[in-house]
Amino acid sequence: MPFGNTHNALKMKYASSEEYPDLSQHNNHMAKILTPAIYERLRSKQTPSGFTLDDVIQTGIDNPGHPFIMTVGCVAGDEETYEVFKELLDPIIEDRHGGYKPTDKHKTDLNPNNLKGGDDLDPNYVLSSRVRTGRSIRGFCLPPHCSRGERRGVERMSVEALDSLSGDLKGKYYALKNMTDAEQQQLIDDHFLFDKPVSPLLLASGMARDWPDGRGIWHNDTKTFLVWVNEEDHLRVISMQKGGNMKEVFNRFCTGLTKIETLFKDKGTSFMWNEHLGYVLTCPSNLGTGLRAGVHVKIPNMSKHAKFEEVLKRLRLQKRGTGGVDTAAVGGTFDISNADRLGFSEVELVQMVVDGVKLLVEMEKKLEKGQSIDNIMPAQK
Ligand code: ADP
Ligand code: MG
Repeated sequence: MPFGNTHNALKMKYASSEEYPDLSQHNNHMAKILTPAIYERLRSKQTPSGFTLDDVIQTGIDNPGHPFIMTVGCVAGDEETYEVFKELLDPIIEDRHGGYKPTDKHKTDLNPNNLKGGDDLDPNYVLSSRVRTGRSIRGFCLPPHCSRGERRGVERMSVEALDSLSGDLKGKYYALKNMTDAEQQQLIDDHFLFDKPVSPLLLASGMARDWPDGRGIWHNDTKTFLVWVNEEDHLRVISMQKGGNMKEVFNRFCTGLTKIETLFKDKGTSFMWNEHLGYVLTCPSNLGTGLRAGVHVKIPNMSKHAKFEEVLKRLRLQKRGTGGVDTAAVGGTFDISNADRLGFSEVELVQMVVDGVKLLVEMEKKLEKGQSIDNIMPAQK
């Protein structure tokens, strides 16, 4: 929890070695990078809003590892966190984002016409397609650190902006606290809404404070364009639909997102962004594009194949269960999405998913017929 000044002052009475966390059982990026020397140099610092080093790393201390994904083990509490604690965060970002250097520049490409193909993923295998990203509103603390008033301010401003969307994107806001438990559960089961705050990563970072206050979901009538408010990021913008037309999904994503950005500009504010980190988000794993393009794809044979992990790695893809990040796959159906966020543009990442998923489906079809996939193994992307 964010205590700021007083807490830090109290801790400074003890030697740095007495405050240093026990990371002996840990397997996350933060635990890999943090050393007693870095801790000592950074422990008295704080951002202008009072976010401290211990606030940054608490979630990684309380969550030693994750069964499927190498977690990051730290969060940002505001836009300045990445600057004030860069001695720790730069190497974590480099480690998590495939060698992305402190001097590297990030590129943005939200022009859907630059995507090649993508309207033809086989719907017998690809059950649904989705693209999401996060956005943070400048001037507000991020979910691990915001006050109740700030969180409600983010909600109010977002709903006002979103209510101006029109046409296919016209929709309505549903605050979590005005929903019945059954309504909420239905949206979760249908894959439209974030889970209840059960994830230990969410809990330990402070992001679940005051739940469900200030949280909600905005969506259009057909639930193909959705915006989550105040979950892990201020905003999560999602485009999704059944079947394998990733091109249509990405088109709607880019159009909607660009309109939302304009609406916030009209309100005199902007999204947190800089040339080096791209879009600034709560979890360092989401920096850059914040984009996760994914499909639910049925690959019971391929997912049992000895080369499955190797193929995913070469295609720069990651797997999750279909119920979200903390779930296991059911019946050979996986959530397959891009592993990268930073250093590649939005278009490049969606292209990797389109091309990679096509290959996975081709492999699945070969395995169904008892054929080998050795001759279509991809090169390392
Ligand atoms: P993220 O945080 O990246 O948005 P999660 O893994 O936390 O994703 O999942 C959030 C919700 O979105 C879950 O209900 C999950 O089932 C749903 N979801 C993710 N990808 C897809 C997809 N391709 N099709 C349908 N639902 C999806
Ligand atoms: Mg999530």
